[in-house]
Parts: sequence; C-alpha cells; structure tokens
Amino acid sequence: MKASSDVRSTLTRARVRALRAALLAWFARERRDLPWRRTRDPYAIWISEAMLQQTRVETVVPYFERFLARLPDVGALANAPEDEVLALWSGLGYYSRARSLRRAAQELVTRHGGEFPRTRAGWLALPGVGPYTAGAVLSIAFAASEALVDGNVQRVFARLFGLELQHGSPALAAACWALAAELVPAPGEGHDPGQWNQALMELGARVCTPRAPACASCPLRSECRAQALGRAGELPLPKERRTPIAVELELAGVQHAGRWLLVRRPARGRMAGLLELPTRERAVLGSTRLWPADFPGAIELEEVELARVAHAITHHRIRATLRRATLAGPLPEAGLWATPAQCATLSLTGLTRKVLAGQGGA
Ligand code: SF4
Repeated sequence: MKASSDVRSTLTRARVRALRAALLAWFARERRDLPWRRTRDPYAIWISEAMLQQTRVETVVPYFERFLARLPDVGALANAPEDEVLALWSGLGYYSRARSLRRAAQELVTRHGGEFPRTRAGWLALPGVGPYTAGAVLSIAFAASEALVDGNVQRVFARLFGLELQHGSPALAAACWALAAELVPAPGEGHDPGQWNQALMELGARVCTPRAPACASCPLRSECRAQALGRAGELPLPKERRTPIAVELELAGVQHAGRWLLVRRPARGRMAGLLELPTRERAVLGSTRLWPADFPGAIELEEVELARVAHAITHHRIRATLRRATLAGPLPEAGLWATPAQCATLSLTGLTRKVLAGQGGA
C-alpha cells in the first residue's frame, strides 16, 4: 500500500506546478456553465453545495434555480416556514440537509447579523456544515486557500497517486485530505483555490469517472500512476457491497371530495416531518422497521389496487402497493386532506410524490 506521506514526498514544487497548470487550463476550456458558477455569492454557493451532496448536477439545476428564486438570500431562508423549505427540497432526498440549511440561516441572522463566516472554524460551527462544505464555500466564494475532498476528488487522487485504498474508507479520505491541502494554491501562487477545487471535482465527474475513465482525453494522464500501471479502472479498491434490503409496503388511498388523506411522519428519524399517504410495512428482511406495522387511525383497505410502484431509499428496495381505502373513524391526529394541486406544493416523501404523480396529483 502506498502511504499518503510517501506520495506527498513525491510532490515536488515542479510537479505541483505541472498538475495545476494542466488541470486549470483544461478546466478553463471545458468547464460546464452552471448557475452557481456565475456568481461568487456565498449564499448561492452554499445552497448549491448542500444540494449537490449525493445528487447529480443535472438534477440539482432546476431545484437550485427554484430555491434561489423563492428564497434569494440568507434572511429569506431564515424566515421561511420549514414546510416551504422542505417543499422546495422535495425530491432531492436527505431532508436533514434542508432543515440544517434553515437552522444555519437562522443562526447566521441572529448571531452574525446575516454575515457569512470567513474562517473554516466559523463554517464548521454551523448546523449541517462539514469540512467539504466549509472548504467549498470558502474557496469558491472568498478565494480562500482551503482544500476540499468529495467522492470525485477521492477517485481522482486514488488513481493519480496510485493509492491502494478502499473506496469510502477513512484511510482513503485521510490520505486525500492531506494531498488536497498540499495541492490547493496558497495566496500569492497565482491560482484561484476555488477554480482548482472545482477543476478537480469536474475532472472526477466528467473524465475520471467511476467505471470508464477517459484517460486518453485526461489532462493529467502523463502524471497519473494508475494510467501508467494500466490500473485506472481498479482504483480506488472496491468496498464490500451492502446487501439490499427488500421492503413491502401497503399505502392507503383514502379520498374525500377530491382530496387525498395524508399523514405527517414523526418529527424524528428517517424522512422526519414529511407528509405521506398512510403507509404500513407488510414485510421486511433483516432490518428495523422504517414504517409502522399498521396505519394511523381507523383505515380500512379495499381489494381495489390503484397502483404498484418500485422505489429505492439508500439500500432499501421498496415495492409499494396503493389500495383504495376508507376512513372509518375520525381524522388521525397527524392527518390532513389535500387536493392534488396542494400536494404539488407540500413536503411529501419521494415515494408518496411518485405514487400520487401516477394518480394525476403531486
Ligand atoms: Fe483518471 Fe485516467 Fe486521468 Fe488518471 S489518466 S486521472 S485514471 S482519467
């Protein structure tokens, strides 16, 4: 195994200069024109970075534009009701990111007069902000010499420097952070740290891709250890796969006067506080329950099947059946009625949104 300290000792000033020059020239030519790249507004960059975690660029663009149009600055986000923020986020998943953004905005307004921190420690003190986001906002918005490492950067470094470490392992992350800190341009070195960080991520997203790296068109190929060894597709080393868990759900399609019955999930736990069709778990293999074993309130299912939907949440493979149902008692405590038009603006779970879309709503 190649230790990262060995690799760092090979990073002569001449090699660092060559890497920077090649990658930055490529980025200047090839960079995608993305809405968050047209600004240095720390708010816009922060929102984009939160959205981009675990989510593809193409998916994020319309969400980002909608979010910024409705909540254009930190004050607007701090004052927005949580439901509105979640509705703007609905479909992106990982809703704790949206809640943390709102809480962080409230802290920025109440404790810092709406000003954004200029230090890594200041960013890391905010809810939901980790080392990646701190490095991204500081380097891109403020041109600070701050490193960042995401999955793309880890893949590029594992190959470029021949790191025989497992994908997703703490050892690979630590090695990459150490290398990133060496490589990010310092003040006075004539390069923009934000451009460098974005160039690394762009290379990982578009050239040094997970399955089929396009080494022939890579600006770093002459410097790349994996390419020299013919092992580009093998690094980083694969991690052991998590076994998928099969989950079967029944969803109750209760309608009254053109409205659907929705219930709010508990305030804590997975998909906390989001609205969904009343749901119960029928079968699950090897997992704790994600949904209750029965519906809230007095719901009676009929035989009529309205839809079947396949859905995935992390490693859970869900098969959901929507059945027509009636409410035999009072409205459940966490329940509400919503027209299809209202559903489109409410903070629904991804599964419920998918199911209702097939019924002509949400
Ligand atoms: Fe990745 Fe290939 Fe470029 Fe090396 S040469 S950094 S493996 S795309």
